[in-house]
Amino acid sequence: MIKAIVGANWGDEGKGKITDVFAQEADYIVRFQGGSNAGHTIKNEYGKFALHLLPSGIFNENSINVLGNGVALNVDDLFTEIENLKKANINMGKLLISDRAQIVMPYHIMFDSYEEERLAGKSFGSTKSGIAPCYSDKYAKIGFQVNQLYLTDDELKEKIKNICSIKNILLKELYNKPLIDEEELFDTVKNYAAILKPYVVDTSLILHNAIKEDKVILLEGQLGAMKDTDHGIYPMVTSSSTLAGFGSVGAGIPPYEINEVICVVKAYSSAVGAGAFVSEIFGSEAEELRANGGDGGEYGAKTGRPRRVGWFDAVATKYGCRLQGATSVALTVVDALSYLQEIPICTGYEINGEITKDFPNTTELEKAKPVFETMPGWFEDIRGIKEFNKLPEKCRNYILRIEKEIGYPVDIISNGPSRTDLIYR
Ligand code: GDP
Ligand code: MG
Repeated sequence: MIKAIVGANWGDEGKGKITDVFAQEADYIVRFQGGSNAGHTIKNEYGKFALHLLPSGIFNENSINVLGNGVALNVDDLFTEIENLKKANINMGKLLISDRAQIVMPYHIMFDSYEEERLAGKSFGSTKSGIAPCYSDKYAKIGFQVNQLYLTDDELKEKIKNICSIKNILLKELYNKPLIDEEELFDTVKNYAAILKPYVVDTSLILHNAIKEDKVILLEGQLGAMKDTDHGIYPMVTSSSTLAGFGSVGAGIPPYEINEVICVVKAYSSAVGAGAFVSEIFGSEAEELRANGGDGGEYGAKTGRPRRVGWFDAVATKYGCRLQGATSVALTVVDALSYLQEIPICTGYEINGEITKDFPNTTELEKAKPVFETMPGWFEDIRGIKEFNKLPEKCRNYILRIEKEIGYPVDIISNGPSRTDLIYR
Protein backbone atom coordinates (compact mmCIF):
# COMPACT_ATOMS: atom_id res chain seq x y z
CA MET A 1 0.00 0.00 0.00
CA ILE A 2 1.60 3.27 -1.11
CA LYS A 3 0.12 6.62 -0.23
CA ALA A 4 1.54 9.88 -1.53
CA ILE A 5 1.13 13.04 0.52
CA VAL A 6 1.66 15.99 -1.75
CA GLY A 7 0.78 19.68 -2.09
CA ALA A 8 -1.76 21.19 -4.47
CA ASN A 9 -0.62 24.78 -3.99
CA TRP A 10 2.69 26.65 -3.72
CA GLY A 11 4.02 24.59 -0.82
CA ASP A 12 3.65 25.11 2.94
CA GLU A 13 0.18 23.61 2.84
CA GLY A 14 0.85 21.64 6.01
CA LYS A 15 2.16 18.45 4.37
CA GLY A 16 4.59 17.94 7.28
CA LYS A 17 1.78 17.73 9.79
CA ILE A 18 -0.34 15.42 7.65
CA THR A 19 2.65 13.17 6.92
CA ASP A 20 3.56 13.10 10.60
CA VAL A 21 0.03 11.90 11.38
CA PHE A 22 0.00 9.23 8.66
CA ALA A 23 3.55 8.21 9.61
CA GLN A 24 2.23 6.83 12.90
CA GLU A 25 0.71 3.98 10.90
CA ALA A 26 3.40 3.67 8.23
CA ASP A 27 6.37 1.34 7.89
CA TYR A 28 8.33 3.44 5.37
CA ILE A 29 8.33 7.21 4.77
CA VAL A 30 10.06 8.30 1.59
CA ARG A 31 11.23 11.67 0.34
CA PHE A 32 11.38 11.39 -3.45
CA GLN A 33 12.38 14.87 -4.63
CA GLY A 34 13.80 18.22 -3.55
CA GLY A 35 16.37 18.93 -0.90
CA SER A 36 16.79 21.09 2.16
CA ASN A 37 15.42 24.15 0.36
CA ALA A 38 11.99 24.11 1.98
CA GLY A 39 10.66 23.09 5.33
CA HIS A 40 7.99 21.14 7.08
CA THR A 41 6.92 22.25 10.50
CA ILE A 42 5.89 19.50 12.83
CA LYS A 43 4.37 19.92 16.24
CA ASN A 44 4.08 16.78 18.30
CA GLU A 45 4.56 15.59 21.88
CA TYR A 46 8.34 16.20 21.59
CA GLY A 47 8.01 19.87 20.63
CA LYS A 48 8.02 21.94 17.46
CA PHE A 49 10.50 21.03 14.73
CA ALA A 50 11.39 22.35 11.28
CA LEU A 51 12.48 19.49 9.06
CA HIS A 52 14.08 20.25 5.71
CA LEU A 53 15.51 16.97 4.53
CA LEU A 54 14.60 14.23 6.98
CA PRO A 55 11.32 12.47 6.19
CA SER A 56 8.55 13.44 8.60
CA GLY A 57 8.32 9.85 9.82
CA ILE A 58 11.61 10.24 11.67
CA PHE A 59 9.70 10.82 14.94
CA ASN A 60 8.23 7.32 14.76
CA GLU A 61 11.03 5.12 16.09
CA ASN A 62 9.61 2.02 14.43
CA SER A 63 9.58 3.59 10.98
CA ILE A 64 12.11 3.39 8.17
CA ASN A 65 12.81 6.76 6.60
CA VAL A 66 14.14 6.88 3.08
CA LEU A 67 15.85 9.62 1.12
CA GLY A 68 15.16 8.38 -2.39
CA ASN A 69 17.18 8.72 -5.58
CA GLY A 70 15.18 11.81 -6.59
CA VAL A 71 16.49 13.80 -3.64
CA ALA A 72 19.19 16.49 -3.68
CA LEU A 73 21.17 15.62 -0.58
CA ASN A 74 22.91 18.34 1.39
CA VAL A 75 25.09 16.27 3.71
CA ASP A 76 25.90 19.07 6.17
CA ASP A 77 22.24 20.04 6.52
CA LEU A 78 21.26 16.41 7.01
CA PHE A 79 23.64 15.94 9.91
CA THR A 80 22.65 19.25 11.49
CA GLU A 81 19.05 18.03 11.45
CA ILE A 82 20.02 14.68 12.94
CA GLU A 83 22.01 16.43 15.70
CA ASN A 84 19.05 18.69 16.54
CA LEU A 85 16.75 15.70 16.97
CA LYS A 86 19.36 13.91 19.09
CA LYS A 87 19.64 16.99 21.31
CA ALA A 88 15.88 16.88 21.82
CA ASN A 89 16.29 13.22 22.93
CA ILE A 90 14.14 11.82 20.16
CA ASN A 91 14.29 8.12 19.45
CA MET A 92 14.55 8.45 15.73
CA GLY A 93 13.30 5.99 13.18
CA LYS A 94 15.82 4.31 10.91
CA LEU A 95 17.30 6.37 8.05
CA LEU A 96 18.28 4.99 4.65
CA ILE A 97 19.82 6.96 1.80
CA SER A 98 19.62 5.95 -1.83
CA ASP A 99 22.92 5.08 -3.48
CA ARG A 100 21.54 7.02 -6.46
CA ALA A 101 20.60 10.32 -4.76
CA GLN A 102 22.48 13.41 -5.91
CA ILE A 103 24.84 15.25 -3.58
CA VAL A 104 24.52 19.00 -3.16
CA MET A 105 28.15 20.11 -3.22
CA PRO A 106 29.44 23.25 -1.46
CA TYR A 107 30.06 24.80 -4.89
CA HIS A 108 26.39 24.29 -5.83
CA ILE A 109 25.43 26.46 -2.91
CA MET A 110 27.98 29.09 -3.92
CA PHE A 111 26.80 29.10 -7.53
CA ASP A 112 23.22 29.56 -6.33
CA SER A 113 24.21 32.68 -4.36
CA TYR A 114 26.42 34.06 -7.11
CA GLU A 115 23.66 33.66 -9.68
CA GLU A 116 21.10 35.40 -7.44
CA GLU A 117 23.64 38.18 -6.95
CA ARG A 118 24.23 38.44 -10.72
CA LEU A 119 20.49 38.58 -11.44
CA ALA A 120 20.04 41.14 -8.67
CA GLY A 121 16.46 42.49 -8.79
CA LYS A 122 15.44 39.91 -11.38
CA SER A 123 16.35 36.92 -9.24
CA PHE A 124 14.19 33.84 -8.79
CA GLY A 125 14.05 34.30 -5.05
CA SER A 126 16.05 31.11 -4.59
CA THR A 127 16.65 29.92 -1.05
CA LYS A 128 20.32 29.69 -2.13
CA SER A 129 20.48 26.07 -1.03
CA GLY A 130 22.22 24.97 -4.22
CA ILE A 131 19.24 22.98 -5.47
CA ALA A 132 19.03 24.38 -9.01
CA PRO A 133 22.82 24.04 -9.66
CA CYS A 134 22.74 20.50 -8.21
CA TYR A 135 19.86 19.33 -10.42
CA SER A 136 21.38 21.13 -13.43
CA ASP A 137 24.57 19.13 -12.93
CA LYS A 138 22.54 15.95 -12.48
CA TYR A 139 21.02 16.37 -15.93
CA ALA A 140 24.32 17.58 -17.40
CA LYS A 141 25.70 14.30 -16.02
CA ILE A 142 28.46 15.95 -14.02
CA GLY A 143 26.77 15.54 -10.63
CA PHE A 144 27.79 13.29 -7.77
CA GLN A 145 25.45 10.33 -7.45
CA VAL A 146 25.93 8.99 -3.92
CA ASN A 147 27.62 5.76 -5.11
CA GLN A 148 30.23 7.85 -6.94
CA LEU A 149 31.54 9.05 -3.58
CA TYR A 150 33.00 5.54 -3.40
CA LEU A 151 34.98 5.63 -6.63
CA THR A 152 38.72 4.96 -6.32
CA ASP A 153 40.85 7.95 -5.37
CA ASP A 154 42.22 8.18 -8.90
CA GLU A 155 38.76 8.10 -10.43
CA LEU A 156 37.56 10.73 -8.00
CA LYS A 157 40.50 13.01 -8.75
CA GLU A 158 39.78 12.77 -12.45
CA LYS A 159 36.09 13.53 -11.94
CA ILE A 160 36.94 16.51 -9.74
CA LYS A 161 39.44 17.80 -12.28
CA ASN A 162 36.79 17.69 -14.97
CA ILE A 163 34.23 19.48 -12.79
CA CYS A 164 36.73 22.18 -11.83
CA SER A 165 37.72 22.78 -15.42
CA ILE A 166 34.10 23.71 -16.19
CA LYS A 167 33.15 25.46 -12.97
CA ASN A 168 36.30 27.50 -12.57
CA ILE A 169 35.84 29.18 -15.93
CA LEU A 170 32.40 30.38 -14.83
CA LEU A 171 33.73 31.43 -11.45
CA LYS A 172 36.51 33.44 -13.03
CA GLU A 173 34.86 34.91 -16.11
CA LEU A 174 31.19 35.21 -15.20
CA TYR A 175 31.13 35.73 -11.45
CA ASN A 176 34.62 36.98 -10.67
CA LYS A 177 34.78 34.80 -7.55
CA PRO A 178 37.40 32.53 -5.91
CA LEU A 179 38.04 29.26 -7.77
CA ILE A 180 37.29 25.74 -6.50
CA ASP A 181 40.34 24.06 -4.99
CA GLU A 182 40.64 20.49 -6.29
CA GLU A 183 42.31 19.10 -3.17
CA GLU A 184 39.82 20.69 -0.83
CA LEU A 185 36.97 19.26 -2.89
CA PHE A 186 38.59 15.82 -2.81
CA ASP A 187 38.74 15.99 1.02
CA THR A 188 35.09 17.06 1.16
CA VAL A 189 34.05 14.13 -1.02
CA LYS A 190 36.03 11.63 1.09
CA ASN A 191 34.48 13.04 4.25
CA TYR A 192 30.96 12.77 2.80
CA ALA A 193 31.71 9.20 1.73
CA ALA A 194 32.75 8.26 5.25
CA ILE A 195 29.89 9.83 7.17
CA LEU A 196 27.16 8.67 4.79
CA LYS A 197 28.42 5.09 4.58
CA PRO A 198 26.20 3.58 7.33
CA TYR A 199 23.04 4.86 5.62
CA VAL A 200 23.68 4.15 1.95
CA VAL A 201 21.74 1.31 0.29
CA ASP A 202 19.79 0.46 -2.85
CA THR A 203 16.54 1.95 -1.52
CA SER A 204 14.56 1.03 -4.64
CA LEU A 205 15.26 -2.65 -3.94
CA ILE A 206 14.30 -2.24 -0.29
CA LEU A 207 11.01 -0.60 -1.30
CA HIS A 208 10.41 -3.34 -3.85
CA ASN A 209 10.65 -5.92 -1.07
CA ALA A 210 8.49 -3.78 1.21
CA ILE A 211 5.76 -3.68 -1.45
CA LYS A 212 5.90 -7.48 -1.74
CA GLU A 213 5.47 -7.73 2.04
CA ASP A 214 2.41 -5.43 1.94
CA LYS A 215 4.09 -2.78 4.05
CA VAL A 216 2.57 0.70 4.31
CA ILE A 217 4.73 3.18 2.43
CA LEU A 218 4.26 6.95 2.44
CA LEU A 219 5.70 9.19 -0.24
CA GLU A 220 6.28 12.66 1.17
CA GLY A 221 6.21 15.51 -1.32
CA GLN A 222 8.05 18.78 -0.89
CA LEU A 223 6.56 22.08 -2.10
CA GLY A 224 3.39 21.89 -4.23
CA ALA A 225 2.01 21.51 -7.74
CA MET A 226 2.49 25.22 -8.56
CA LYS A 227 6.25 24.72 -8.05
CA ASP A 228 6.48 21.67 -10.31
CA THR A 229 9.18 22.19 -12.92
CA ASP A 230 6.88 21.39 -15.87
CA HIS A 231 3.35 22.09 -14.68
CA GLY A 232 4.00 24.92 -12.24
CA ILE A 233 4.56 28.63 -12.74
CA TYR A 234 7.72 28.18 -14.83
CA PRO A 235 10.33 29.62 -14.49
CA MET A 236 9.48 30.49 -10.88
CA VAL A 237 9.41 26.81 -10.02
CA THR A 238 11.61 24.36 -8.18
CA SER A 239 14.12 22.15 -9.97
CA SER A 240 12.48 18.80 -9.36
CA SER A 241 8.97 17.54 -9.97
CA THR A 242 6.67 17.97 -6.99
CA LEU A 243 4.00 15.65 -8.37
CA ALA A 244 2.90 12.33 -6.89
CA GLY A 245 3.56 10.73 -10.28
CA PHE A 246 7.23 11.60 -9.91
CA GLY A 247 7.19 9.57 -6.70
CA SER A 248 7.55 6.55 -8.93
CA VAL A 249 10.75 7.91 -10.49
CA GLY A 250 12.16 9.55 -7.38
CA ALA A 251 11.65 6.50 -5.17
CA GLY A 252 12.21 3.83 -7.81
CA ILE A 253 8.82 2.10 -7.51
CA PRO A 254 6.20 1.09 -10.12
CA PRO A 255 3.65 3.87 -10.84
CA TYR A 256 0.68 1.52 -10.41
CA GLU A 257 1.70 0.79 -6.81
CA ILE A 258 0.71 4.30 -5.70
CA ASN A 259 -2.84 3.64 -4.50
CA GLU A 260 -3.74 6.87 -2.76
CA VAL A 261 -2.81 10.48 -3.41
CA ILE A 262 -3.65 12.70 -0.48
CA CYS A 263 -3.49 16.22 -1.75
CA VAL A 264 -2.84 18.80 0.94
CA VAL A 265 -4.65 22.06 0.30
CA LYS A 266 -4.56 25.18 2.40
CA ALA A 267 -7.80 27.01 3.28
CA TYR A 268 -6.21 30.26 2.00
CA SER A 269 -3.13 30.83 -0.17
CA SER A 270 0.51 31.45 0.68
CA ALA A 271 3.63 31.49 -1.47
CA VAL A 272 7.33 32.05 -1.07
CA GLY A 273 9.50 33.69 -3.72
CA ALA A 274 8.58 35.47 -6.92
CA GLY A 275 6.05 34.49 -9.58
CA ALA A 276 2.41 34.97 -10.56
CA PHE A 277 0.05 34.69 -7.60
CA VAL A 278 -3.40 35.68 -8.80
CA SER A 279 -5.34 35.73 -5.53
CA GLU A 280 -2.59 37.57 -3.63
CA ILE A 281 -3.61 40.34 -1.26
CA PHE A 282 -1.59 43.28 0.03
CA GLY A 283 -1.43 45.94 2.72
CA SER A 284 -3.21 45.64 6.05
CA GLU A 285 -5.55 42.91 4.76
CA ALA A 286 -2.51 40.77 3.96
CA GLU A 287 -0.75 41.60 7.21
CA GLU A 288 -3.78 40.45 9.15
CA LEU A 289 -3.99 37.15 7.26
CA ARG A 290 -0.22 36.64 7.58
CA ALA A 291 -0.38 37.22 11.33
CA ASN A 292 -3.36 34.86 11.77
CA GLY A 293 -2.08 32.23 9.36
CA GLY A 294 -0.31 28.95 10.06
CA ASP A 295 0.97 28.37 13.56
CA GLY A 296 2.13 31.78 14.76
CA GLY A 297 2.06 33.51 11.38
CA GLU A 298 3.09 32.82 7.80
CA TYR A 299 6.87 32.99 7.91
CA GLY A 300 9.17 30.62 6.03
CA ALA A 301 10.37 27.49 7.87
CA LYS A 302 13.69 27.73 6.00
CA THR A 303 14.32 31.45 5.67
CA GLY A 304 12.01 33.09 8.21
CA ARG A 305 10.95 35.54 5.52
CA PRO A 306 7.31 36.67 5.45
CA ARG A 307 5.29 34.55 3.03
CA ARG A 308 3.10 36.18 0.41
CA VAL A 309 -0.55 35.53 1.21
CA GLY A 310 -3.88 35.58 -0.59
CA TRP A 311 -7.38 34.17 -0.52
CA PHE A 312 -8.21 30.59 -1.45
CA ASP A 313 -7.64 30.09 -5.18
CA ALA A 314 -10.06 27.49 -6.51
CA VAL A 315 -8.65 27.71 -10.05
CA ALA A 316 -5.08 26.95 -8.98
CA THR A 317 -6.15 24.32 -6.44
CA LYS A 318 -8.40 22.44 -8.87
CA TYR A 319 -5.45 22.35 -11.29
CA GLY A 320 -3.04 21.30 -8.53
CA CYS A 321 -5.34 18.44 -7.45
CA ARG A 322 -5.74 17.36 -11.07
CA LEU A 323 -2.00 17.24 -11.73
CA GLN A 324 -1.39 15.42 -8.47
CA GLY A 325 -4.18 12.96 -9.24
CA ALA A 326 -5.80 13.55 -5.85
CA THR A 327 -7.82 10.65 -4.47
CA SER A 328 -8.65 12.78 -1.45
CA VAL A 329 -7.99 16.27 -0.15
CA ALA A 330 -6.75 17.31 3.28
CA LEU A 331 -7.85 20.90 3.84
CA THR A 332 -5.56 22.56 6.36
CA VAL A 333 -5.34 25.68 8.51
CA VAL A 334 -9.11 26.24 8.40
CA ASP A 335 -8.94 27.55 11.99
CA ALA A 336 -6.74 30.46 10.89
CA LEU A 337 -9.71 32.02 9.07
CA SER A 338 -11.87 32.23 12.20
CA TYR A 339 -11.06 35.94 12.61
CA LEU A 340 -12.95 36.91 9.45
CA GLN A 341 -16.57 38.09 9.16
CA GLU A 342 -16.46 37.45 5.43
CA ILE A 343 -14.06 35.28 3.42
CA PRO A 344 -13.34 35.91 -0.26
CA ILE A 345 -12.66 32.92 -2.54
CA CYS A 346 -11.08 33.24 -5.96
CA THR A 347 -13.43 31.23 -8.20
CA GLY A 348 -12.19 32.33 -11.62
CA TYR A 349 -9.51 34.19 -13.55
CA GLU A 350 -10.25 37.02 -15.92
CA ILE A 351 -7.84 36.91 -18.86
CA ASN A 352 -8.23 39.32 -21.78
CA GLY A 353 -11.81 40.07 -20.71
CA GLU A 354 -12.83 36.41 -20.49
CA ILE A 355 -13.43 34.43 -17.34
CA THR A 356 -11.94 30.98 -17.01
CA LYS A 357 -11.81 28.31 -14.32
CA ASP A 358 -8.92 26.51 -15.99
CA PHE A 359 -5.41 27.34 -14.85
CA PRO A 360 -3.39 28.60 -17.82
CA ASN A 361 0.30 28.55 -18.77
CA THR A 362 2.56 31.19 -17.22
CA THR A 363 2.41 33.64 -20.13
CA GLU A 364 -1.39 33.77 -19.86
CA LEU A 365 -1.28 33.55 -16.08
CA GLU A 366 0.65 36.82 -15.88
CA LYS A 367 -2.40 38.57 -17.39
CA ALA A 368 -4.94 36.95 -15.06
CA LYS A 369 -7.01 38.98 -12.63
CA PRO A 370 -8.84 37.25 -9.79
CA VAL A 371 -12.63 36.92 -9.73
CA PHE A 372 -13.61 36.86 -6.08
CA GLU A 373 -16.81 35.70 -4.48
CA THR A 374 -17.45 36.22 -0.81
CA MET A 375 -18.56 33.61 1.70
CA PRO A 376 -19.84 34.45 5.18
CA GLY A 377 -17.22 33.75 7.87
CA TRP A 378 -18.05 31.70 11.00
CA PHE A 379 -16.21 34.07 13.30
CA GLU A 380 -15.69 31.67 16.21
CA ASP A 381 -12.90 29.42 17.41
CA ILE A 382 -13.07 25.97 15.80
CA ARG A 383 -9.99 24.37 17.34
CA GLY A 384 -10.69 21.25 19.38
CA ILE A 385 -13.71 20.25 17.29
CA LYS A 386 -13.43 16.58 16.23
CA GLU A 387 -16.46 16.04 14.02
CA PHE A 388 -17.45 17.68 10.79
CA ASN A 389 -21.06 18.07 11.90
CA LYS A 390 -19.95 19.96 15.02
CA LEU A 391 -18.27 22.69 12.97
CA PRO A 392 -20.27 25.93 12.65
CA GLU A 393 -22.61 25.77 9.68
CA LYS A 394 -20.83 28.65 7.91
CA CYS A 395 -17.52 26.83 8.26
CA ARG A 396 -19.02 23.66 6.79
CA ASN A 397 -20.43 25.72 3.95
CA TYR A 398 -17.00 27.22 3.25
CA ILE A 399 -15.47 23.73 3.10
CA LEU A 400 -18.31 22.35 0.94
CA ARG A 401 -17.99 25.29 -1.42
CA ILE A 402 -14.26 24.63 -1.83
CA GLU A 403 -14.99 20.95 -2.43
CA LYS A 404 -17.55 21.82 -5.12
CA GLU A 405 -15.24 24.31 -6.86
CA ILE A 406 -12.25 21.98 -7.00
CA GLY A 407 -14.18 18.76 -7.65
CA TYR A 408 -12.17 16.54 -5.28
CA PRO A 409 -13.40 15.11 -1.96
CA VAL A 410 -12.29 16.96 1.18
CA ASP A 411 -11.96 13.93 3.46
CA ILE A 412 -9.68 15.44 6.09
CA ILE A 413 -9.91 18.85 7.73
CA SER A 414 -7.10 20.24 9.83
CA ASN A 415 -8.18 22.78 12.44
CA GLY A 416 -4.98 23.38 14.36
CA PRO A 417 -1.23 22.69 14.12
CA SER A 418 -1.09 19.65 16.41
CA ARG A 419 -1.36 15.99 15.46
CA THR A 420 -4.73 15.72 17.16
CA ASP A 421 -6.30 18.76 15.46
CA LEU A 422 -7.91 16.71 12.70
CA ILE A 423 -11.42 15.97 11.51
CA TYR A 424 -12.08 12.94 9.30
CA ARG A 425 -15.23 13.12 7.24
P1 GDP B 1 4.64 22.11 4.63
O1 GDP B 1 5.86 22.67 3.99
O2 GDP B 1 3.56 21.80 3.66
O3 GDP B 1 4.91 20.95 5.52
O4 GDP B 1 4.04 23.25 5.56
P2 GDP B 1 4.84 24.18 6.60
O5 GDP B 1 5.13 23.36 7.81
O6 GDP B 1 5.97 24.88 5.97
O7 GDP B 1 3.75 25.28 6.91
C1 GDP B 1 2.53 24.99 7.47
C2 GDP B 1 2.39 25.72 8.82
O8 GDP B 1 1.06 25.61 9.27
C3 GDP B 1 3.22 25.13 9.93
O9 GDP B 1 3.61 26.16 10.80
C4 GDP B 1 2.27 24.17 10.62
O10 GDP B 1 2.58 23.94 12.00
C5 GDP B 1 0.99 24.91 10.50
N1 GDP B 1 -0.21 24.11 10.40
C6 GDP B 1 -0.42 22.94 9.75
N2 GDP B 1 -1.72 22.60 9.82
C7 GDP B 1 -2.34 23.58 10.53
C8 GDP B 1 -3.69 23.83 10.90
O11 GDP B 1 -4.61 23.09 10.59
N3 GDP B 1 -3.93 24.98 11.61
C9 GDP B 1 -2.94 25.86 11.94
N4 GDP B 1 -3.27 26.94 12.62
N5 GDP B 1 -1.66 25.66 11.58
C10 GDP B 1 -1.37 24.55 10.88
MG1 MG C 1 7.05 24.30 4.16
